[in-house]
Amino acid sequence: MSNYHIKHLEEYFQVYRKSVREPENFWEEIAEEHFIWRKKWDKVLEWDFTKPEIKWFKGAQLNITENCIDRHLATRANKTAILFEPNHPDEKAEHITYKQLSERVYQFANVLKENGIQKGDRVCIYVPMIPELAIATLACARIGAIHSVVFAGFSASALATRINDADCKMVITADGSYRGSKTIDLKGIVDDALENCTCVETVLVAKRINSDIQMKQGRDQWLQPLLDAASKECQAETMDAEDPLFILYTSGSTGMPKGMVHTTAGYMVYTAYTFKNAFQYRENDVYWCTADIGWITGHSYIVYGPLANGATTVLFEGVPSYPDFGRFWQIVEKHKINQFYTAPTAIRALAKHGTELVDKYDLSSLKVLGSVGEPINEEAWHWYNDNVGKKNSPIIDTWWQTETGGIMITPIPYVTPTKPTYATLPFIGIQPALMDENGEELKGNQVEGRLCIKHPWPSIARTIWGNHQRYKETYFSAFENTYFTGDGALRDEVGYYRITGRVDDVIIVSGHNLGTAPIEDAINEHPAVAESAIVGFPHEIKGSALYGYVILKDTGESRNHDNLRKEINQAISEKIGPIAKLDKIQFSEGLPKTRSGKIMRRILRKIASDDMGNLGDTSTLLNPEVVQNIIDDRL
Ligand code: ATP
Ligand code: MG
Repeated sequence: MSNYHIKHLEEYFQVYRKSVREPENFWEEIAEEHFIWRKKWDKVLEWDFTKPEIKWFKGAQLNITENCIDRHLATRANKTAILFEPNHPDEKAEHITYKQLSERVYQFANVLKENGIQKGDRVCIYVPMIPELAIATLACARIGAIHSVVFAGFSASALATRINDADCKMVITADGSYRGSKTIDLKGIVDDALENCTCVETVLVAKRINSDIQMKQGRDQWLQPLLDAASKECQAETMDAEDPLFILYTSGSTGMPKGMVHTTAGYMVYTAYTFKNAFQYRENDVYWCTADIGWITGHSYIVYGPLANGATTVLFEGVPSYPDFGRFWQIVEKHKINQFYTAPTAIRALAKHGTELVDKYDLSSLKVLGSVGEPINEEAWHWYNDNVGKKNSPIIDTWWQTETGGIMITPIPYVTPTKPTYATLPFIGIQPALMDENGEELKGNQVEGRLCIKHPWPSIARTIWGNHQRYKETYFSAFENTYFTGDGALRDEVGYYRITGRVDDVIIVSGHNLGTAPIEDAINEHPAVAESAIVGFPHEIKGSALYGYVILKDTGESRNHDNLRKEINQAISEKIGPIAKLDKIQFSEGLPKTRSGKIMRRILRKIASDDMGNLGDTSTLLNPEVVQNIIDDRL
């Protein structure tokens, strides 16, 4: 029997050792016992990080939708697969059972085929968080088309870049979308984008907000009539284990986004296995991940991982602040959510508004709280733990990337003891290593370096779409024979990992390497501070000095900025040391963020260095207006 569900720490260590000593046997057992295959593999793993080339379950044939849908129909036909919670709390939630999901996916798949989509074609999905988004991705997978989901908050030019990069033949969109009290003219954005895309032949439009839109003759079609006319049966395409399942662009925190390519079998096995264990999902639990399906978190842990386990997964259309900052907790109470997975940016935004709205709702159904996307600072961790989890639900700080496909370093709840700001231990099968600048591996504990992974895991991205050379350079060239993550980390005295920030953002002050996360963590501890970001700027003596951007909590009172600066530096001195004190502290209204909510330090670095001429790719910026404000007020 394979160890599909880990239940205690001893078992974790035992299974971990096995997964590292005999990775092929380990993953073969998991794959064999928990998934359905059209044909088994000839070889479990073939890899060469120098090319780089990685193949898992070579020669196997399958269709991921048979694992996510068909096989559940015998036992879970009437179980809710997708629970749709609309933007407005008064609009009725929709329970889509596995049976209904199967019919809707098959109809959609037939519509794709009738519109000329074939195996291997790329389909861009630019749809808000409504059921059609999940259904469209699964429909593509059903027929072997490669989906490229673009977050439906991106601008026309960012959308066009992604459509062209993947050479998409079709775009699936909606007339518009709801986002809190606003509506967004999605179809208008698609029309603008397509002015610059010649590859797109067809646009399918879902109706959501009933707005008046332009339909271009011969190109655009309303989706619903096509679905209504389509058959509810659709044979799944036979896919090779290594056939691409999707392309997904990274968040764009560090530069031009990369179209990561994920393939079928390894991705399925790893996302399903991590979902089961990282969330300790049990039959009849209701699981909610607040991410958008436009990010990897949504692909792996709203759609594929949960559905492969026959889970009930919530799909929320709205935002945490609408109709008020209690919306998340209202939904937790309403649907009796058991596992709740969100991002530090959301936690910080909610914490800014106090605890009244959290205390108002019954959150006793919660068993597991998750965090992903950025380092979670200590203050936010405690706020989440105390007020949401009532110190009763372990927090899993899950570190991973678009490139890794699934969770890589995380506590397993009720198994691994947690520690604030630590992602703790590697997941089963993951072999992290910390490297120094010279490419030497730092052995033992209490070391800090560049985070690498030494052995392939099943869901590692196989390439960057259309640019294998960039894939090689970005991930496999910094260190020999190992995958470089781009992040820095430390390993503490018991072997727990803490992510210290991106290596690009590391600042060298008087010869000392300083990661951003621990310093920002110290700043955020100050009771007046809501959020902060630090960057380096050139300094004659120290090489670099630290520039901090600090957002204060809205308390209504005015504060003396000079006193605050002193107190912040005092806090840093105590927690980290005088070397990490900030030379400049600018108080600002906001921080530039990616559309997935991450702080874009590269823009702040340019401003701090007085290099505003070239801010780099800003198409993934959520809030361009704050950039000008920060420039105007810079010190
Ligand atoms: P780009 O690669 O385009 O610059 P990005 O790195 O933000 O964008 P993602 O793949 O969405 O794109 O994010 C992965 C990164 O997010 C990680 O490399 C890490 O820097 C950060 N991250 C994710 N989860 C955590 C976590 N739990 N703790 C610390 N950092 C995290
Ligand atoms: Mg990245």
